[in-house]
Amino acid sequence: MQALPFSTNFFADEPHPARTAALTEDGTAEVVIVGAGIVGLSCAYVLREAGLEVAVVERDHVGFASSGRHMGHLTPHMWNYGSNEPHVLAAWAHGCLDWIEELLAREDIDCDFARCPFWLPAATEAEAEVVRRVAGYYAGLGLPARSVPAEDFDLVTFRTWGAVVLEDQARAHPYRMVRGLRDAVLRKGVRLYEGTPVTSVEGGRRVTVTTPGGTLRAPKAVLALNAYSGQFPFLRGYMTPMHTYTIVTEPLDEDTASTLGPPRARDLLIYDMAADRDEDHFYQRLRGDGRLFFGGGGTTPAPAPDRMAPDRNEAKFRHIHGEMLRRYPSLGNVRIEACWGGPICATVHGQPIVAQVPEHENVVTAIVGNGNGIGLGTNAGRLVKGLVLGADAVDVGTRAFLEYCGGVADAA
Ligand SMILES: Cc1cc2nc3c(=O)[nH]c(=O)nc-3n(C[C@H](O)[C@H](O)[C@H](O)COP(=O)(O)OP(=O)(O)OC[C@H]3O[C@@H](n4cnc5c(N)ncnc54)[C@H](O)[C@@H]3O)c2cc1C
Repeated sequence: MQALPFSTNFFADEPHPARTAALTEDGTAEVVIVGAGIVGLSCAYVLREAGLEVAVVERDHVGFASSGRHMGHLTPHMWNYGSNEPHVLAAWAHGCLDWIEELLAREDIDCDFARCPFWLPAATEAEAEVVRRVAGYYAGLGLPARSVPAEDFDLVTFRTWGAVVLEDQARAHPYRMVRGLRDAVLRKGVRLYEGTPVTSVEGGRRVTVTTPGGTLRAPKAVLALNAYSGQFPFLRGYMTPMHTYTIVTEPLDEDTASTLGPPRARDLLIYDMAADRDEDHFYQRLRGDGRLFFGGGGTTPAPAPDRMAPDRNEAKFRHIHGEMLRRYPSLGNVRIEACWGGPICATVHGQPIVAQVPEHENVVTAIVGNGNGIGLGTNAGRLVKGLVLGADAVDVGTRAFLEYCGGVADAA
């Protein structure tokens, strides 16, 4: 049987990532951010730029969690923008990629960012109709999307029933992107405490954030905890934590790579449409270096709201590997280089939540997850700014999107 070696983070290209010192004494700030994934760092960046004194508390190190080990596909789009001004929301979301591109250029973050299309093929006949519907929905919102009939979709060699293409999406190296943002917030003067688990958060006129080494007090706190939100009971109703898994092959030689699809399929994220199913829903990306990333196969629920499923899940790795071989029998002798998993979450209404927590005065939560948190998550700070500094601090489009996320941007 093929060996399926587990890796904690395949993308980390440094054996011992630099860590800032943990919090060892009490202190104050104008805003405390809990969690330094892409969402927490985005909030830190934007709020610091707005002139606030910002402290960020991270249990592990930046890049350890999902923000450092995702597939590198940046889409800011939802399946559904609701009925209230969906064009405005879709346009704001689409602009998120421009904002990321400018941020990466301004901060000189080298993470292989590139614009590329995103393909969603129907992997079953039943999904052909879904493909047409989704393409029509996006195109109707003014987004660059279209459906491609089965006979014209030739990016993969397994059978499909047509596809949707969303043009003008992006990709980036996950670990380098989040580590680059870490360096940028440090340069801006954000105080980052890595290796510092927050044990309690108490709202009030001054919020109290407690850690084993000391307590931070601030007029505002932002909880950017994604699937880990459930460790705080007052956030449990907001989302369901779960796990998703992926595997990667050794670099394929050109002959083997050509059995997967044409050379122009390189570095495209191709994702089963799977709007109406979960268990047999897979995605793939044949990277420029010849490695095939293949993942999905359903999510694994967390065993309890305050605990995550294991990153190492042999049964799931076997399931994904089996499907990869079913689609591409030519990969039978190809070695699997690494397998891993990471926490994601599904929010209660399937849309991002950026909102004041009712039970805790001056505590805001930012959960933009839903399995594709990078495009929007990197823009979370723009939304949170409207809650921390008030409605006048953000433009009309941002305010509309914040409202869609459940936030109420009161006048400052
Ligand atoms: C295999 C895989 C593939 C994926 N592919 C994609 C993709 O291609 N595109 C995409 O958009 N999304 C993808 N995702 C999802 C994406 O990674 C997440 O949506 C995104 O990283 C969430 O960012 P975040 O900052 O909200 O959360 P996280 O990155 O989970 O950050 C939360 C942080 O909170 C910290 N924390 C937890 N508890 C505490 C505590 N008590 N005190 C202090 N800190 C704490 C954690 O250590 C962590 O660093 C993928 C995820 C996985 C696992």
